[in-house]
Amino acid sequence: MTDTPLKLFNSLTREIETFTPVHPGEARVYSCGPTVYNYPHIGNMRAYVFADVLGRTLSWKGYDLTHIINITDVGHLTDDADEGEDKMEKMAAEKAQSIWDIAKHYTEAYWADVKALNIRQPAKWSVATDYIDEMIEFAKGIADKHCYELDSGLYFDVSTIQDYGKLARAVTEEGEGRIDTVEGKRNAADFAIWRKTPAGEKRQMEWDSPWGKGAPGWHLECSVMGGKLLGFPFDIHTGGIDHREIHHPNEIAQNQAHCCTNGLDVAENSGARIWMHNNFLVERSGKMSKSAGEFLRLQLLIDKGYHPLAYRMMCLQAHYRSELEFSWEGLGAALTRLKRIVMQVERLKDEIAGDPSHQKFAPMREKFAAAVSDDLNTSIALVALEEALAVKKVDGGVKRAVIEDMDRVLGLDLFSLTREDLRIRPVSAEITETEIEAELVRRKEARVLKDFAASDAIRETLAVKGVEVMDGDPLGWEWKLG
Ligand code: AMP
Ligand code: ZN
Repeated sequence: MTDTPLKLFNSLTREIETFTPVHPGEARVYSCGPTVYNYPHIGNMRAYVFADVLGRTLSWKGYDLTHIINITDVGHLTDDADEGEDKMEKMAAEKAQSIWDIAKHYTEAYWADVKALNIRQPAKWSVATDYIDEMIEFAKGIADKHCYELDSGLYFDVSTIQDYGKLARAVTEEGEGRIDTVEGKRNAADFAIWRKTPAGEKRQMEWDSPWGKGAPGWHLECSVMGGKLLGFPFDIHTGGIDHREIHHPNEIAQNQAHCCTNGLDVAENSGARIWMHNNFLVERSGKMSKSAGEFLRLQLLIDKGYHPLAYRMMCLQAHYRSELEFSWEGLGAALTRLKRIVMQVERLKDEIAGDPSHQKFAPMREKFAAAVSDDLNTSIALVALEEALAVKKVDGGVKRAVIEDMDRVLGLDLFSLTREDLRIRPVSAEITETEIEAELVRRKEARVLKDFAASDAIRETLAVKGVEVMDGDPLGWEWKLG
């Protein structure tokens, strides 16, 4: 627990605000989760590293955290304008599998990435299809005053609430800049609350409702699960910056309608007090995509030999509100930085943790606390950690306690990681580590005997197999697979 007040950037007001919990001592956070129709790309995972750092910071500051992340297994369309297919239905048809199997497979793949990136488990993974009854009840509560029915479904009339689109800012009163082609909509920005199954069609996922058989609109699930599991208003709602434009303004509109019909007639009551958005991870060629170009999954990074926490390090080096450009060189640099830290931490592993409040570390601890409290400035927090590691002539146990405390926020798993874990080792490598180590032992023996011809020959043979021997490497890496 530190006393520095936590300041966070609220997308709703576009201002840095001091965090004051709705329920004293508690922090209730909802993060928009993945749509499980495909593997997440590493850009998606940036959103969860960010939410994890936020959650860890709140815990570190002593708040009792309840974090919810949802799993979207229904309702998210291929097109923002309420047309197009449900992403889940589309993938299920392409793969000739049931939606439930598709959802299970990709949810598990997502969870594997969560684990690999040392993202903490939320209090609950809430699955959209588990809340269909609640979504229908919610829709019934707002239908009369705020919605209208068309042949294709039930639509929310955005003109019925105050300040529609305040979060996005870009949307004008006329809904300018929004393309919406569903026939009969009253305002361009109106959106589906319930999508009826067209006559004569059968969807894999459909439920009975007062508006006919069909499926909920995508935005409904987050309003319903956020309200049900955390209670309105809760503290913080997170998501990627794209959600600031459509998904979250629509969620807010629903929440306002819902709260008002329930007697809480507060126009500003948007469900959550603070809305936070991480910026995108981009590729040099532009926006990251699951379909175009090399599909940057975390598993691809692992297959190329990078430890997944190098990617976490890469995320922490940038501020979450800045765009971050992915490159393999950048990932390599993050890996090297992580390795330098891990090498220093290795020396502390046998120490018994002491008292972290030791005076010698006060400047670094203050710098660290100020950085994370300043809208989660992890890049400066990392520098504070490195400065603490560099402090000379101090008790190792005290240093250990200081670093452990900082890693509670950063989540780099520094006391479990080893240098060997961080060695670059592509899965495609045709030589095993044991073989490399054995060759290097032979080479060392040759050098002791001053048999440089033999030593060079071993180096050459290894080079042919893609192993670069690195004599005198300051990081003690000794070899790497190219
Ligand atoms: P989705 O599975 O498409 O609903 O996205 C999951 C999360 O990833 C959402 O919070 C998105 O806003 C976020 N997101 C999508 N693309 C990126 C990206 N390139 N960089 C960072 N976050 C992203
Ligand atoms: Zn959401």
